[in-house]
Amino acid sequence: ITPPIPHPESSTKQQVSNPPETSPTRPPALLHRSFTELPHKVIRASGNTLHLSNGRRILDACGGAAVAIIGHGNAEVIQSTTEQMHRVSYVHTMSYTTSSSEELAQCILKPFGASTFDHGLTKAFFVGSGSEANDAAMKCARQYWFEKGEVKRRVYVARKKAYHGNTLGAMSVSSILPRKVPYDDVLLPNVAFVSAADAYHGLVGKETEREYVGRLVDELEDEFLRLGPENVVSFIGETVSGAAMGAMPAPKGYWQAVRALCTKYNILLHLDEVMCGMGRMGTYFAFEQEGIQPDIVTIGKGLGGGYAPIAGMLINDKIVSGLRQGSSTFNHGQTYQAHPVSCATALAVQKIVKREGLVARSAAIGKKLERMLSEAFEGCEYVGDIRGGGTFWGIEFVKDRETRLPFSKVGLGSAIQLQAFELGVAVYPGSGTADGVLGDHVLLAPPYTATEEELQMAVDVLKQAYEMAVVQYAEEELE
Ligand code: PMP
Repeated sequence: ITPPIPHPESSTKQQVSNPPETSPTRPPALLHRSFTELPHKVIRASGNTLHLSNGRRILDACGGAAVAIIGHGNAEVIQSTTEQMHRVSYVHTMSYTTSSSEELAQCILKPFGASTFDHGLTKAFFVGSGSEANDAAMKCARQYWFEKGEVKRRVYVARKKAYHGNTLGAMSVSSILPRKVPYDDVLLPNVAFVSAADAYHGLVGKETEREYVGRLVDELEDEFLRLGPENVVSFIGETVSGAAMGAMPAPKGYWQAVRALCTKYNILLHLDEVMCGMGRMGTYFAFEQEGIQPDIVTIGKGLGGGYAPIAGMLINDKIVSGLRQGSSTFNHGQTYQAHPVSCATALAVQKIVKREGLVARSAAIGKKLERMLSEAFEGCEYVGDIRGGGTFWGIEFVKDRETRLPFSKVGLGSAIQLQAFELGVAVYPGSGTADGVLGDHVLLAPPYTATEEELQMAVDVLKQAYEMAVVQYAEEELE
């Protein structure tokens, strides 16, 4: 095993030495996901580095959950947030609007930079999280049909191996099974699932990607016909599948074909870009790469870059005019909707992204990251697939590269993530059961500001963690 890889900051900056905090004598009052394990305490975050209470520094190679797109502690964002707090800290959107929320909507809906791509989206609705954005979008789609008198439309069509959030609506159209326990029988009943666009596992025999796309789209069409298109509200999918599949882009042509099918049967197309949007894939929206116009898009994570809890739903004129046909209001309101401070904060983040050309940078450093990953992991026995785009990359671990089957007890990805953390790099784990199918991956989603040195460190550490975890985990299981 190679010696530990030094943190990129260690050559230029002084080691930060925070006094280790004494372990708590009683359990903390804050409810975390785990009742037993205490999360690491972060006392400061700057640039792309997290500083822990025990004095350790961690390179943030996944921006939390693909959130921190410009790194941490940006002074310009902090200043904009503070100024907004002085200007207007809060008003309720029932009666008021603010320039920060109006400007944020304009900033996002305007063509990005030199791009001439026409996405057709004309209105934005801001909430606090990706889950809320998806719930709002599902309600908006249903209200659209309701106002048009098509009240029979009750079914959402979603995909297997999908993750759209934790609220009851978003969870209903998700298929990470462990997260559905024990809520399974209180989720929305009217959801139909079709196959995921997963070329790594889905291609059969000598089937080409084009044939695979044809098969997936036939399946979707059959499902629309089985349900009766007049009963369907929308088709929901992540443009690039994130948490459940590990940065899996759909095969080329898939979204174009799905768009055409939704148009043919007059079914709304809702793309979830909470994880893969806002430049993560190297274009502002991931769907731009297929040149399509969805009806509804949900965004989050990179929108506020982690500086504020903010996400959004974007809709086109078709939806707007449909809503206007009826009550003229979107029947969904939240206290903190379009929160002025969150909007000002996200606006500052987006202005930096635009000014600094960070979407193009996400694409450019992503190409370097791809090369580093393929060089480091080439020929590794348990690395089945390296896929993604922009600054969004997944590495899938399998027991057998021939059959592409995972280990019987998934967990190599988690073991690697834990090991990488011990070595000073945070990556996002993805070991678990998505829709009854075992999967095992780690995700890299570095800030668009990551340096080449930081990317190289992340990849080197990941390789080292892989080697250590394989010894501890995989070979044990293979015996
Ligand atoms: N959709 C996708 C594609 C996501 O990746 C996530 C979060 N991982 C969500 C929705 C839910 O977002 P949030 O956790 O902000 O509610």
